[in-house]
Amino acid sequence: MSEPSLPSPRLRLRVSPTAESVLRAGHPWLFSESIRDQNRSGILGELAVIYDRQDRFLAFGLYDPGSPIRVRILHRGRPATLDAAWWERRLRDSLERRVGLFDEQTTGYRAIHGENDGWPGLVLDRYDSAWVLKLYTAAWLPRLGEVSALFRTALQPRALVLRLSRNIQDIARDQFRLTEGVLADGADASMEPATSSAALRRQRFLESGLSFEADLLQGQKTGFFLDQRENRRRVEAVASGREVLNAFSFSGGFSLYAARGGAHAVTDLDISEHALESARRNFALNSTHSAVAQCRHRLIQADAFAWLEQNRDARFDLIILDPPSLARREAERAAAIQAYGRLATSALRTLRDRGILVAASCSAHVSATEFYGAVTEALRRTGRPYHELARTGHPPDHWWTFPEAEYLKCLYVALV
Ligand code: SAH
Repeated sequence: MSEPSLPSPRLRLRVSPTAESVLRAGHPWLFSESIRDQNRSGILGELAVIYDRQDRFLAFGLYDPGSPIRVRILHRGRPATLDAAWWERRLRDSLERRVGLFDEQTTGYRAIHGENDGWPGLVLDRYDSAWVLKLYTAAWLPRLGEVSALFRTALQPRALVLRLSRNIQDIARDQFRLTEGVLADGADASMEPATSSAALRRQRFLESGLSFEADLLQGQKTGFFLDQRENRRRVEAVASGREVLNAFSFSGGFSLYAARGGAHAVTDLDISEHALESARRNFALNSTHSAVAQCRHRLIQADAFAWLEQNRDARFDLIILDPPSLARREAERAAAIQAYGRLATSALRTLRDRGILVAASCSAHVSATEFYGAVTEALRRTGRPYHELARTGHPPDHWWTFPEAEYLKCLYVALV
């Protein structure tokens, strides 16, 4: 991949001793306040080369003058040339890390998980023959053409969809004339545009042999919560004969696994009508599984916190709590921990004896210890005996390699 047209000379940075050792240890972010000097001002997305105090090469990465994370590291260690072969190798490495994880029964998964795969701020998810490229940092915008060409050649997608995190949508539109949607190339242009975008709003794929539809153009994240696959599989294994509440159900992922696992009734509870409508369609899609066809499926559109408070007489044998991130900022951490505790308390009130609670958190600002603490404290206060079945973290296609990237935790407890 060639460099975008650049002012010369190459952008060179020197950083604080602390940053030097942090980068050497593999952390992928260089914050602006750690930069000691630089030979000129840098432009968005250009390659910044970082040297240590002895003027030895340390790392290189993508420069972003508008972000406190000034450089996102692509490579550290020995000097390397960032050419087409380097990018191809990096993509191959990401794909090879997933070899053997999924068979033909699972055609939806994450192929590139940002920093953790060496692609800082970039995610690539596969949904069968359509792929979604989501950017979380503007630093990729000048390179989008080259990156998407690389993905197209290697993956031969039927469609490649661009998604942009909210914070970079303005700059993408104003400076690069880019908006979310299907990335056009020869192949995409040959599809009838209206049909293709309608299809991509209901893109089918398989997860563990279950069929799902995802809205790749507008759905949350890239259309589906691919990161909960392993937890859904565990729920399937304990669902037999149970009456299930799937709170914050989104498109019914946990519910379908519970149904296939032999649950006799499943309730999807979500605040979004659109989410419940996809849950309804996803159930219909799987009626060929006899256990799914036999499972009673109910949809409730409500605020889950309020609904659990107001329906104290409801009873379930398996409750899944998978709220959206309750702490988007560090400042919201304490309130989020309290909210996790409150949610667990109201769920436990409606959980029958021998019932199972599955409580998940996707807030990166709340640590695993804090989250488990909040839920186990709620359990302790009920005075009901319980035992822990499992504590789980990230699935293997969403592995984490530095502390800030760890966000997912899930606790399974059974009342005894
Ligand atoms: N468990 C899901 C993912 C949940 S994402 C899965 O496996 O796919 C979080 C969901 O919570 C979203 O669908 C969102 O619409 C819903 N939500 C957000 N706030 C809510 C609230 N206060 N009450 C109920 N649902 C809410």
